[in-house]
Amino acid sequence: MKRRQFLVDSTALLAAAITAKHALADSSSTYVAPVPADTGAVGHVVVIGGGMAGATVAKYLRVWGGARVKVTMIDRSPNYVSNIMSNLVLTGARTLSGLTYTWDRLAANYGITRWQGEVDRIDAQAKVVSLTDGRTAQYDRLVIAPGIAFDDIAGIETDALRARYPHAWQAGAATNALRDQIRAMTGSDRFVMTIPKAPYRCPPGPYERACVVADWLKRNRPGAKVLVLDENPGIVAERESFNLAFTKVHAGVIEYVPNAIVQSIDPGTNRVFTTMGDFAGKVINPIPRQRAPKVLRDAGMLNAANAGETELKWTKVDALSYEHLDSARFPGVHVIGDAATHGMPKAGHVANMEAKICADAITRYLRGDRPMSGPVANSACYSPITASTASWLTAVYQYDPTSRQMKVFEYAPGQLATGEAGLASKDNFEEMNKWFRQLMVDSFA
Ligand SMILES: Cc1cc2nc3c(=O)[nH]c(=O)nc-3n(C[C@H](O)[C@H](O)[C@H](O)COP(=O)(O)OP(=O)(O)OC[C@H]3O[C@@H](n4cnc5c(N)ncnc54)[C@H](O)[C@@H]3O)c2cc1C
Repeated sequence: MKRRQFLVDSTALLAAAITAKHALADSSSTYVAPVPADTGAVGHVVVIGGGMAGATVAKYLRVWGGARVKVTMIDRSPNYVSNIMSNLVLTGARTLSGLTYTWDRLAANYGITRWQGEVDRIDAQAKVVSLTDGRTAQYDRLVIAPGIAFDDIAGIETDALRARYPHAWQAGAATNALRDQIRAMTGSDRFVMTIPKAPYRCPPGPYERACVVADWLKRNRPGAKVLVLDENPGIVAERESFNLAFTKVHAGVIEYVPNAIVQSIDPGTNRVFTTMGDFAGKVINPIPRQRAPKVLRDAGMLNAANAGETELKWTKVDALSYEHLDSARFPGVHVIGDAATHGMPKAGHVANMEAKICADAITRYLRGDRPMSGPVANSACYSPITASTASWLTAVYQYDPTSRQMKVFEYAPGQLATGEAGLASKDNFEEMNKWFRQLMVDSFA
């Protein structure tokens, strides 16, 4: 029986792996799910952060939990600017306003209460969060989805210098500033970018940036070059696709240097100093190392991400429900999105998946029940390689009760449920646009 069940489960997961990248693109873009009057779940859930993870969990808590689950979502910003697709703002193919979303439809469609403000204190024992403006919110369950914070880079630690070297790894004004610097380049200039040590937000994102900038320079500033200084020993994600992109599609334009640990930037000479040498450029785009934001650190909620590591940078959660592993000190506290460690990459599509697993678990808790025993999730990501072609990457993950993390599903020994495009294509570019539209509808409408 067990063996037959395993075969049924693994066949279903394999099918999921194959269709994973189509999962969002196939769903309707206008459907508004009803909020049931009463599912048996009762309580108040406070959500900190209304990004890819926070907006999705707020929505699905109401859709699955019903009207007796009150949801208050707190975000410091008046609206949300998507990081996803923001590399295309650098080339002028998209604009920041086209990537800006409000929470109005979540409030109107699902009855979510929205507060604009900055949470700066969490009292996990009293179950209260405090905002910098003096407001407080009492909760039964708390979901923390604040995204990431950036480490300083030696040599550019002032606000003025950070503005002069925009990382643009949080979409906003800095993205436009970097776009303007690229536009000001000439055919004899070099764009130098640095990639932080993993884990960081969006594993394929920096390589995607190198490709779209190279593509724009080829067409608009022929002769200009892109230098990629990677702190990692090799390409972190979509290795086959980006290898092809760097060595064939953008051959002669992109130069790639692995193991280049950034030591400092000298604003006087516009040089990046690394363990692989020092490199000058007209435009320097340093993507800093990343960690969970201060609100989690101040609350004492950071752990070492992996065995043998001592630095407390991220919050390790039990991927069954996304609750903090230390549930005695942090009862009813869930952490989702890029701030959390759970075995899956830090990406917007994954944040959307985590949010749904978390919303389902909370809804069950609020009904006096237990979370589902074996959650499955998929990651799907498209990367533009040129102005009209893209590649993709997908994987299926399943909960591993021993590590309490998600693991890439193995549908046969050594056969991982993961895949990538290899060759970029126009069809992928079109599918990318559909996938993005549906992901944002699923999260914000
Ligand atoms: C250039 C680039 C390209 C990318 N491309 C892709 C892609 O193609 N596919 C993909 O899946 N992912 C992509 N990503 C990654 C994706 O953007 C992130 O993984 C995703 O945004 C993470 O969601 P999050 O909810 O954890 O954080 P965010 O989306 O950053 O949301 C965090 C929210 O919390 C709020 N907040 C933070 N602290 C507080 C506080 N103390 N009080 C109140 N509010 C607070 C912030 O204002 C923000 O709105 C890309 C990222 C970049 C930078």
